[in-house]
Amino acid sequence: MVETGSNMKRELKAVIKDAKGLLDAYRDLGVDAPPVSPNALRTREEQAPSALQADSPETADTLEALRAFVGDCRRCKLHQGRNKLVFGEGSARARVVFVGEGPGRDEDREGRPFVGEAGKLLTRIIENGMGLRREEVYICNVVKCRPPRNRDPERDEIETCLPFLKRQLAVIKPEVICVLGRVAGEALLGPDFKISQRRGQWHEYMGIPLMPTYHPAYLLRNPSAKRPVWKDVQGMMDRLDLEVKKNG
Ligand code: SF4
Repeated sequence: MVETGSNMKRELKAVIKDAKGLLDAYRDLGVDAPPVSPNALRTREEQAPSALQADSPETADTLEALRAFVGDCRRCKLHQGRNKLVFGEGSARARVVFVGEGPGRDEDREGRPFVGEAGKLLTRIIENGMGLRREEVYICNVVKCRPPRNRDPERDEIETCLPFLKRQLAVIKPEVICVLGRVAGEALLGPDFKISQRRGQWHEYMGIPLMPTYHPAYLLRNPSAKRPVWKDVQGMMDRLDLEVKKNG
């Protein structure tokens, strides 16, 4: 114990000596010593987790690191009216990522994507239609906070939030992206995107095949859209080599 204590003392003296030498060197050169960050004075174990996290979305190499980076985000005005930020959920190794436009009332309350009526329909499409479990895919939105009165997210809000979705896609590396509805389609494929014209066709986003289809909320209001959506889903299943049930 005494041995350890004297070792520490010796090490401390050596550190102080080094620091003094460095300061002398700066003085000799006639320049100011650079400011020291408080974190630099702490050991790695002592540093708060935030100091060890990604310092930009691009450096987050896991969904957990990205979620930690997003934190209690206030980067756009949508934070003002949200109850809970809805980051997204599902498997980090999902073969398919579903992307909606933004959280609605139920999602904002629960902090989870697609949990209302439209979400239940999406779950049925995934589980009964595609034969996958909801936990096997990944579900998220273009903006992570609920727009007031469920209005469409505005351009500046989409631009601010989009790096998070891009990083989610870069980390997961799905084989297919399924874009749900016009707003998400415009966000990823450009302002000229028309869901009625471009659904059912393969596109590409970040080098990943992308299939746009109608939003489940639209399907609830327009049951006749069920047939084209099923066709789009079959197209995705085909690409993913999933078996299509005859009674789909
Ligand atoms: S919508 Fe996105 S950018 Fe805006 S506050 Fe929420 S997480 Fe941040």
